[in-house]
Amino acid sequence: MVRQSEMFDITVIGAGPVGLYATYYAGLRECRTKLIETYPQVGGRLISMYPEKEIFDVAGHRMIVAAELVRELAGQAMQYRPTVVLNERVTGLKILGERIIELVTSAGSHYTQTAIVAAGCGAFVPRKLDIPNLIDFEGHGIFYYLSSFEPLRGKKVLVVGGGNSAVDWALSLDGIASEVTLCHRMYRWQAHEAMVHRLLSSNIRVKYPYYTLKEVLGEDRVTGAVIWNERSGLEEAIEVDAIVLSIGMLTNMEPFREWGLKIVGSGIAVAPDMSTNLPGVYAAGDIVTYPGKVLLITAGSGEAATAVNTAKEYIISGDLGR
Ligand SMILES: Cc1cc2nc3c(=O)[nH]c(=O)nc-3n(C[C@H](O)[C@H](O)[C@H](O)COP(=O)(O)OP(=O)(O)OC[C@H]3O[C@@H](n4cnc5c(N)ncnc54)[C@H](O)[C@@H]3O)c2cc1C
Repeated sequence: MVRQSEMFDITVIGAGPVGLYATYYAGLRECRTKLIETYPQVGGRLISMYPEKEIFDVAGHRMIVAAELVRELAGQAMQYRPTVVLNERVTGLKILGERIIELVTSAGSHYTQTAIVAAGCGAFVPRKLDIPNLIDFEGHGIFYYLSSFEPLRGKKVLVVGGGNSAVDWALSLDGIASEVTLCHRMYRWQAHEAMVHRLLSSNIRVKYPYYTLKEVLGEDRVTGAVIWNERSGLEEAIEVDAIVLSIGMLTNMEPFREWGLKIVGSGIAVAPDMSTNLPGVYAAGDIVTYPGKVLLITAGSGEAATAVNTAKEYIISGDLGR
């Protein structure tokens, strides 16, 4: 039997931007809310991967630095005094009965009527290229993300990739690094058009299409790179001090499958109301998948509001049934 004092209305799993917004919105709907986060700090990837990066596509902000956005989101989320649990990873989710969910963490159990999974891309590792000596240079000039731009000040940097992250990294480094080159292997860009135009009219040297990294040069740290055109076979050796590989993430959804959640591709399948296949369990943010899903903070915030509203309706329908 779960004591009433232990029972929350909504428990949000993951304190990234989406989990923080879900926490705020749950407070707005006067739900007794708990937020559980693996790490000692909130903010998700904005803090762990790109705290200094400028963000241009969040509603209401022409530009905001990631760490500042997290400060704003955290301030907004704390208004209704949710219970915040840091340093605990949710490792299990069990439906114990109608509107009773147990969330098992490294430190014990949490009980809730509903749960909103906002766990980002779950356990992930950066996608790497099949280059024999790449791993040897990790920590010695190979980066997969930049938690600070300072180590690259005055350096020559190669950015590999053509998505939003790669283009944003290159633009952010322009003016900090002494020289920035970006190579992209596709014909089409996966980044926002306006940012691509900004890139193409900047001082950044852009090698595309069909260009990718072939070899990392150096003894005990990166001193150069061989890039090559996959179509023509043309190779070019360039002098660089650092290489930022920004070609996506490999996600592991197995833990969520073990909870009983339906996984499609690399995401939790959700209905338009953000409900999952499990009763009382909703999901939002980068962890979800549906046709047309975009991996953006703004999209995740909308999903968080929808998830909270659906959860609240579910809670109310239970109250009416009593
Ligand atoms: C380099 C880069 C640049 C980007 N730039 C932009 C941009 O300019 N604009 C934009 O809109 N988007 C950008 N994005 C995408 C954006 O970061 C994501 O869309 C956003 O972080 C998704 O938020 P989220 O809360 O769903 O996930 P996350 O930010 O990944 O947060 C998930 C949180 O859940 C926690 N968690 C995971 N599993 C558990 C568990 N089992 N128990 C407890 N806690 C758990 C994690 O520790 C993490 O804190 C960028 C992404 C990258 C990688």
